[in-house]
Amino acid sequence: MKSAQPNPMFSNNEGIRLISYCPLCNTQYNPLSAKVLEEKDDAHLVHINCKKCNSSIVALILSSALGVSSVGLLTDLSGEDALRFKKSSRVNDDDVINLYSLLHLNVDMVKYLSSSI
Ligand SMILES: [Zn+2]
Repeated sequence: MKSAQPNPMFSNNEGIRLISYCPLCNTQYNPLSAKVLEEKDDAHLVHINCKKCNSSIVALILSSALGVSSVGLLTDLSGEDALRFKKSSRVNDDDVINLYSLLHLNVDMVKYLSSSI
């Protein structure tokens, strides 16, 4: 797995053209700002930040014999955060019940969360 570095290989890549404009402000992305978060076979997970409105997308770009396709998701995560959450465990029923209980105890959530990290 490569680290989150600008990847010039996408400058002429058909896949990046599919997601070349910011969905919020329509500004054209700089292809050199795309960071490959993960790659496997013909699939690339890419993070792109819009320099104008500072929104980001995480996109999965797939290439196959039928062509190149992509699925993008608007996010407020940085590339590093996206990788961190990708590796973290799923939220389960117990997590939800614990949070619900804590909210009813009027626990100082900022203090609680900062002590549990
Ligand atoms: Zn934008």
